[in-house]
Amino acid sequence: MDKQTDFVLRTMEERDVRFVRLWFTDVLGFLKSVAIAPAELEGALSEGIGFDGSAIQGFARVYESDMVAHPDPSTFQMLPWRGAAGGTARLFCDIGLPDGSASFADPRGVLKRTMKKAADMGFTFYVHPEIEFYLFKRPIVPGVEPTPVDTSGYFDHTTDTAGTEFRRTAISMLEQMGISVEFSHHEGGPGQQEIDLRYADALTMADNIMTFRVVVKEVAVMQDLFASFMPKPLADQPGSGMHSHVSLFEGDTNAFYDASGEYNLSRTGRQFVAGLLHHAAELSAVLNPWVNSYKRLAAGGEAPAYITWGQNNRSAMVRIPMFKPSKASSARIEIRSLDSSVNPYLAYALILAAGLSGIENEMELPDPAEDDVWSLTEKQREALGIKPLPNSLDAAVRAMENSQLVADTLGEHVYDFVLRNKRAEWAEYSRQVTPLELSKQLPAL
Ligand code: GLU
Ligand code: MG
Ligand code: MG
Repeated sequence: MDKQTDFVLRTMEERDVRFVRLWFTDVLGFLKSVAIAPAELEGALSEGIGFDGSAIQGFARVYESDMVAHPDPSTFQMLPWRGAAGGTARLFCDIGLPDGSASFADPRGVLKRTMKKAADMGFTFYVHPEIEFYLFKRPIVPGVEPTPVDTSGYFDHTTDTAGTEFRRTAISMLEQMGISVEFSHHEGGPGQQEIDLRYADALTMADNIMTFRVVVKEVAVMQDLFASFMPKPLADQPGSGMHSHVSLFEGDTNAFYDASGEYNLSRTGRQFVAGLLHHAAELSAVLNPWVNSYKRLAAGGEAPAYITWGQNNRSAMVRIPMFKPSKASSARIEIRSLDSSVNPYLAYALILAAGLSGIENEMELPDPAEDDVWSLTEKQREALGIKPLPNSLDAAVRAMENSQLVADTLGEHVYDFVLRNKRAEWAEYSRQVTPLELSKQLPAL
């Protein structure tokens, strides 16, 4: 028995754990969970637990539905909201097939494969996300615009403490689960919050983001609120982005740092950004995965709609944040297009793959855009060679259909599933007659 397994089994006894939850994520980014009795865990850690994959979004075709969940002992944590004694533990799982091979449909497996590719090139991929979300009053009535919990705005400190209380409880639960938080504050929209996680390797971070969503939803229930990671819940307010700061390390050295480079960005860093911009449109259906995601991008402000980069440009898709010269390890790039609803495993796998392709192919970075790209005319943007990101899920799916990089990274099964699923979402949306049409066009036509 390895050390980690031994530690897990001992902790189980010491803490008198009553339930063990095995977690994994479907292709659309929803968390799945199966509870096992504590006595089953030892066997689960060595053999895995079989389940029917055909009922999980994107997992299997019915004729090959048997799947095996293998808990990863390094992800063992107690769920703080379940209490200390007689509590519930959880572990994330890798999904395999009965013959022992890795499942072709497991998003965690997609990210692991891509990180292995980075490791073969000598790199570890680190991420820290700024996660935005809204807090609404209950009840949530389907089809009706929700009511934010407060009327505060960016960085506000007011006597209306709903958001502050919420963040305080959520952050202490995250920390009890080993997830460090760097910053938190009220965001721009009423009821909108932001919590930024301290950097970790991308696999740990994708697990952390899935845990984060559960914690935030649980705390909201405890405080009689509703938390939502929907990209653009309110038509007239900012959407919820999940800007992600990323870097590559070679051992202990930040491969994005070069004291003599423009913005202190190394050649490797420039090639990574070049790859990202080159493939940006193809990645959209995963980085902005819902019909609603494109409402956030269309609204402008601090959500990007153009494939550009710049140092201080918040309308650009990629920004190079400034950092203290004494802290070379903080050299990083910020990707601003992805929103809070993504499947983090697939999103980080594609970002990494696009960046690595920039490095492998020694891509050149175009000039930075330091203007507010929104305020330029279409002609000016064209003259500068600035292309828009796909402006709808339909356009994003079309760009992804032609992407060898996305097909290779996701693997054929996940790639086909995402395309099929997103085409169906677009078709359903296109058939709708919206309240806007009924209020404007019905009376007029
Ligand atoms: N809410 C904005 C977005 O949708 C980001 C605001 C910010 O810069 O933090 O991306
Ligand atoms: Mg923010
Ligand atoms: Mg940001």
